[in-house]
Order: sequence, then C-alpha cells, then structure tokens
Amino acid sequence: MKLPWQKSSSSSSTGSVKGLNDSRLRFEVIINNIEDGVVLIDDQGTIQSFNPGAANISGWPVDDATGINYSQVMQLVNDKGEVIPNEVSPFTEIFRSGQVIHDDNAILQTKDKKQVPVSLSINPLLNDSGQVTAAIAVFRNVTTQRAEEKQRADFISTASHEMRTPVAAIEGYLALALNDKVSTIDSRARDYLEKAHSSTQHLGQLFQDLLTSAKAEDGRLTSHPAVIELGGLLEQSTNDLRFVAEKKGLFVEFAVGSSNNTINARRTEGGERVVRPLYYTYADPDRIREVISNLFENAVKYTDEGKITIGLTGDNQVVQCSVKDTGPGIPAEDLPHLFQKFYRVDNSATRTIGGTGLGLFICRKIIELYNGRVWAESEVGKGSSFYINLPRLSTEKANQMIASSSGAKDV
Ligand code: ADP
Repeated sequence: MKLPWQKSSSSSSTGSVKGLNDSRLRFEVIINNIEDGVVLIDDQGTIQSFNPGAANISGWPVDDATGINYSQVMQLVNDKGEVIPNEVSPFTEIFRSGQVIHDDNAILQTKDKKQVPVSLSINPLLNDSGQVTAAIAVFRNVTTQRAEEKQRADFISTASHEMRTPVAAIEGYLALALNDKVSTIDSRARDYLEKAHSSTQHLGQLFQDLLTSAKAEDGRLTSHPAVIELGGLLEQSTNDLRFVAEKKGLFVEFAVGSSNNTINARRTEGGERVVRPLYYTYADPDRIREVISNLFENAVKYTDEGKITIGLTGDNQVVQCSVKDTGPGIPAEDLPHLFQKFYRVDNSATRTIGGTGLGLFICRKIIELYNGRVWAESEVGKGSSFYINLPRLSTEKANQMIASSSGAKDV
C-alpha cells in the first residue's frame, strides 16, 4: 500500500493527476509541519516514512531513520528505564494482533539515550484478507503534561498522607467515646457520635483511596508480578468475600467455563474436584485480589437482593474474570465514565450509598499495569456485570516461566 506521503516514482495513471498531486502536496505539508511524530513501518519492520516531528522527538535525522528496522529507532523503555524487548514491543504486537494500540504512558529512548515521555498510538493497515501490511505510529512528546501531572499527584499524595494521621486519631477517640467500658454518654450523644464516627471512617477511606490513585497515576503503585493461576485465586477470593454478601442475604456463586457451558469448580458432594481449565496470567496476585474485592464489595454494596456471581472463562489469548450482580444496574450514559476518577452515578438507586468514586479508577489503573482491560455492562433494573480481560499464558509457557524464574507465587 502506498500512502500520499511515501516517496513515489511515478504519478497516478488516473485522469485527475492535478487533484492527486495537490492532495499529496497538502498531505506532505501537514505531515512535515505537525509537531507529532508520524512513522510508517512495513511488514518487515522497516521504517518507510519518518516525518520531521518524529526526528525532533527521537533525535534520529529523517534520512538516517528511513529504511532501517524500527527496533533501532523506536526503542521504548519501561518506567525503570529498561529497554522493552522486541518480542513484547507494541510495534511487534500490532503485526500479531492487528488491533489499534494506545499508550499514554510510553517512554521513548532517543538516539542519545535520553528518555522522552510520549503518548503513542499505533494503527494497523490491513489488506483485503485482513493481514497487517504496515503500521502507522503517531506519537507526541508529553514531557510538560507529565511534569504537571506529577506535581499534582505529589501534592495529593503528600496532603492525603499527612491528613490520614489526624483523621485516624479522631476516629480512635470517637471509638473510645462510643465504648461503654470507657465512656458514659447519653443516647442522643451516642447517635451524634456514631454519625461522626462513620463520617470519619469515610474520610479515612477517601484519603487512602486518594493516596492509592495518586500512586497509580505516577507509576508508584508497587507491583510484584508473578505467574498466577486465576482459577485458584478467584476461588479463594470468593470464599474470603462470601461472608460479607451472605450477611446481607445475598447468594454467592463461583462459575468457571464459558457462559453457555458453566462448570461449577467447587468440590462435588463426593469431595472430588471438578476438572477445569487452568487460566494462567502474569500479574501481582495481591493487586488482582484488590481489584476483585473492590468489584465484589461494590456488588454487595449496591445490591439489595439476589446473587453475586464471580466467573472465569477465556480463550487462547485472554483470561476473562467477571463479577455480576442482580442490583439496580447502571444507566447506559454512565457506563463509559465509571472508571474515571471521582465518577459516581447520580441516581437515587446508588447515590445515597456512601463511596468515594475512586474504587473503579484504581481497578482500571491496576488492570492496565498488566496490559489488561476492565469494563462494565449493565441495563437499569437488570443488574450489572464487570469484566476483566488479562493476557493468558499457556500452561506450557507458564510452567517454563515458573521453572526459569521461580516467578510463581503461591496463591
Ligand atoms: P464508589 O466508592 O462510589 O463505589 P467506585 O469507583 O467503586 O466508587 O464506583 C463508581 C460508581 O459506579 C459508584 O458510585 C456507583 O454509582 C457505580 N457502581 C459501581 N459498581 C456498581 C454496581 N455493582 N451496581 C451499580 N452501580 C455501581
């Protein structure tokens, strides 16, 4: 496929040569004058086009970069400054998956080995049979935005850290005042103090969530990824969380398998384990538990009756966990915003229930750490379903990784 801004030896054979030339010229003017870097990579990994914006950001002169393999020029590094290996680079991934890739937190290593934060998007060019024939990468230098975001996050994180201590002290003293063995108070004072105690607990939770979300935003969230088997992890989490739901009269179910062919993975009455597939992924088990428990606690919080189902399924590429409830549901217009910071649905079904609006934002940040995706589907009055997709490791690959790095954790 030839694009207007690729070098072309001959002009078009169609009648409107002038029109084509004009549009090519216009295109070249745009591509050569925008600040964003634009790079065209063919299916051999060779850079076919490299605009001046790309040269400016990467430090690679246009003529040096054009015609060589992208891996020499478009080197991405992780937040520890280590070069991301070719096998897992998004420039390789795009030819495998054919799916558009966006990464707002990418870091490009320049020719002089400096690191430039970039917002990167890579689009595949597909032929008629759906094969990726080329990829176009567009990237923007976001150094200033990142510095400002960091300043904001630093402020929030310091402020919430400092405020947690006095709030914890107030909460402690209120608990003492409410303790019959320590204090004597009349029933009206008890009522006031109970309200104050619950608001202080809410404030403490808000500071905790603020601190976690600030860390998630500037990449300071601690993560110790390992090979984990999600079936075992989910089953254990379900058992740990079951009590809170059952206390509220909600039934809890754990289901493994496709939605049409649900297999109960719990022990049978005879005590044997039902055989189920193994769903391996590479992530920090504590962080994944945090996400599951957040989704589960929301399901309990917003559901008055019925059941909560924790599900697990997948295909060769993806493991999918779900948390479904029979609660009030979420209006369609709110669904795309649920995972934004401080977003709370403004309706009587959920607004009156306490919360910070940060839980789902933190869930998204955690899942994105492991190249996964989290989203919700719902219809008002018909309950809500939250889904998490994580890249699946084959059992063979998981065993290899466990053997070679002793990277597995007992979950
Ligand atoms: P919150 O602390 O408010 O629960 P979250 O970020 O966890 O914050 O959730 C954001 C909003 O999404 C909630 O305020 C609620 O309106 C809605 N929500 C989340 N989970 C559910 C659910 N299971 N059922 C209905 N609404 C939900």
